[in-house]
Amino acid sequence: MNPEEFAGPNIPSSALGGNSGPKLATLSNIRIVLVETSHPGNIGAVARAMKTMQLSNLHLVRPKRFPCAQATARAAGADDVLFDAKQWETLGQALQGCGWACATSARARSIPWPELSPREAAEKAVKTAQQTPVALVFGREQWGLTNAELDRCHSLVHIPTHPNFRSLNLAAAVQLVAYEVQLAWHDQEPAEGASPVMASPCSIDDLEGFYDHLEATLIDIGYLNPDRPKRLMRRLRRLFNRTHPDCSEINILRGILTATQRAAKERGNDGH
Ligand code: SAH
Repeated sequence: MNPEEFAGPNIPSSALGGNSGPKLATLSNIRIVLVETSHPGNIGAVARAMKTMQLSNLHLVRPKRFPCAQATARAAGADDVLFDAKQWETLGQALQGCGWACATSARARSIPWPELSPREAAEKAVKTAQQTPVALVFGREQWGLTNAELDRCHSLVHIPTHPNFRSLNLAAAVQLVAYEVQLAWHDQEPAEGASPVMASPCSIDDLEGFYDHLEATLIDIGYLNPDRPKRLMRRLRRLFNRTHPDCSEINILRGILTATQRAAKERGNDGH
């Protein structure tokens, strides 16, 4: 092995020094999610990129080949990150329990999505991770993420590039975002100061439950035609994702939806 390629022995997190306890817990709340990665070598290179930036929480959605010797070789000593990686069938499963998720994309999208710079996304990730797990989501080597996958994320990050040559290698994209996370993490305010004033963000599962309820209600009141939904739900998701509602706000909105459905039903029963 080329000695320059060897990342060194696995260092237990307790030996990382300086930033222990709640601060390190923030980093372990930050998930890197890879969707349908084709090349196992890229998964290994991502593990290495993560470990250099003190991230270790890797989630794989339907990787083509994993575990794999190629992944281990490219991890160059970050095989503990690969060993602990979790595998899922769907992106929804990988995002379970997360209070915030950010997709990354090399392309512009047909509907503009709430976009953050890598720096803003890293700051938001670190701040939110003081309270709840968060996810940074990376797409397939060939064609990135689908719009439906994007719909599940609150924000979108594009790493600025040459306008006509926008696509980074997957692990290079992870490296840049993870580097910003590490910088933001070093600069973060102590969690003790932040917690009492921040309302608890609702999880992505709760948000998905809200979107299902919203869609059902819009159908009940005749605003949404399920046979011709167009882009209404995507536009509404974009609106709510931008505001990043907390748990109590989602409860209020669901209460309004329940009352709306009840009123629509009563009207229907009255024959109006
Ligand atoms: N041809 C694909 C590029 C995929 S590159 C496409 O058109 O989308 C694999 C993944 O790396 C992307 O899905 C994204 O997660 C990340 N990535 C690559 N370049 C990026 C960039 N400039 N900004 C943000 N993420 C990027």
